Amino acid sequence: MSDKSDDDEKEIPIPDKNNPFGDPEELSKKLADFLKSSFGETISISKVQESFNPFNQESSAESHDLRSEEEKSDDVFDFKYIPRDIKAHLDRFVIKQEDAKRALSIAVCDHYNHAKYLKRLRKKDPEAAEQVEFNKQNVIVVGPTGVGKTYLVKHIAELIGVPFVKADATKFSETGYVGADVDDLVRELVRKADGDVALAENGIIYIDEIDKIATKGDMMGRDVSGRGVQTTLLKLMEETEVPLRNPQDIQSQMQAMFDMTRGKGGKDTINTRHILFIVSGAFSGLEKIIEKRIKQGSIGFGADAMAQADEKTLAEELTTADFLEFGFEAEFIGRLPVRVVCEHLESKDLFEIMKNSEGSLIRQYEKEFEAYGIQAVFEDGALLNIAELAAEEKTGARGLITVCEKILRNFKFELPGTAITELSVDGEMIKDPGGSLERILESAAAIGDSKLLGELTAFRRKFEEDHGVRLIFETEAITEIEQITNQRNQSGLTVCSDLFRDFQFGLKLIQQNTGRNTFHIGAEAVRQPDKYLSDLVVSSYGNNQSSSEAGS
Ligand code: ADP
Repeated sequence: MSDKSDDDEKEIPIPDKNNPFGDPEELSKKLADFLKSSFGETISISKVQESFNPFNQESSAESHDLRSEEEKSDDVFDFKYIPRDIKAHLDRFVIKQEDAKRALSIAVCDHYNHAKYLKRLRKKDPEAAEQVEFNKQNVIVVGPTGVGKTYLVKHIAELIGVPFVKADATKFSETGYVGADVDDLVRELVRKADGDVALAENGIIYIDEIDKIATKGDMMGRDVSGRGVQTTLLKLMEETEVPLRNPQDIQSQMQAMFDMTRGKGGKDTINTRHILFIVSGAFSGLEKIIEKRIKQGSIGFGADAMAQADEKTLAEELTTADFLEFGFEAEFIGRLPVRVVCEHLESKDLFEIMKNSEGSLIRQYEKEFEAYGIQAVFEDGALLNIAELAAEEKTGARGLITVCEKILRNFKFELPGTAITELSVDGEMIKDPGGSLERILESAAAIGDSKLLGELTAFRRKFEEDHGVRLIFETEAITEIEQITNQRNQSGLTVCSDLFRDFQFGLKLIQQNTGRNTFHIGAEAVRQPDKYLSDLVVSSYGNNQSSSEAGS
């Protein structure tokens, strides 16, 4: 307008067209002042972040792709697996749980194949797509803690490339704002998908401790709002549109407002139709319910039919009626048609997990020691003892971490910085960690010559490279070798090359006979190398041991 006064012009700052809000600090402060003057101290906002610049085209995730959500979802997620593929992937990481692996693989394939089919149909014939009836393959997993329930779902999500969110059902009943919390799960999927709503709409939501929201029966930990949570979850599991921005979060709402004013017509809700829901819980007491039902139903035969409700019978006999009896609403349990039971893990399973799972925590420990320049080798004897102690914890595979941490903690503290470069973790060390550590530290102090250790490491590495056989020098052996180097006035390398000159042939032979790859060089092997070798060769013919246990 032409009649504007000079004063007016001074008072209205000309906004930077790229960012009329100034810097985020200033904006936060202005908003906080405004809220305080309007509502008192009851409402506050978290700091406005740098990315909260609605005029910056790079700032929000959905801004760099202008295709419709439908178009995007077609290419972001093209499901191409068959159940066998998924099971094979799970076999690499998850030990046991065969039935669960199969059932989940099938449910996941059915779910995503159907989603894919519907998307295609909707493109060609939207009306026909609306008519299609399909029962979503949401899953309920029953099983004790630490047996791989989460681990299974996490690896499925990773394989097929969809975001995955985990929460505890108990969390929803605590806050009181039930609806808002449950919706947050869906929004969290979007965050996990880096803002890609289309991908989030194909994600997996995993809710643990679902048994805690059962509302009747005589279960422990009942919660008055359990029924409310079931109803809210039910809506999500069927199909609903969840607002992309939390209605209770002022910052999100303002962002939405700005998005709207600058004509960013992006989708502002997330549809839950193709989100796969997997819920789980320990369901303690469920066996009793099944047992009772079967006994009642088969008068006279009941006791024989189900002498004891073990996991196999649980898996076979579990019906909707049992979940209703446990305290679930019929509508809720009806939306979870796939039932999966995970088994207890016994000590032999825990041994398997350490030995053969690609995610074995033993690899982690080896890496941790390696970071300190220590090569740790876990013998089978150690794994057996760890597995037994872990089984006593009754927390499934979680017990393994507890036991290993307790036993190895002091080793991790004491050994780095000493002369020790190799650590053989054997059964004895697990039984008597204190005594073992003391002995190792004593011999470490006796060695003290880091030049010799360097030479032994070089010898060992070269030997492994050339012959595919790993040698572990025990500390007593190192002390012996040190004495010989002093007597002969020779380097460690020369002494080893001489002492162990025939080892490559003998050890290779043993390797062929038994599959054994690791050999411990103890004091005796240094004092009488030929005897040590010939004893080993002889016993390898009689005894087909494939393990790598100590043989010093
Ligand atoms: P929950 O059954 O309580 O969901 P998790 O799946 O979270 O237990 O298991 C905890 C950890 O234990 C996993 O991260 C994994 O490292 C290990 N684990 C549990 N069960 C198995 C299994 N069957 N095979 C291999 N590792 C397992």
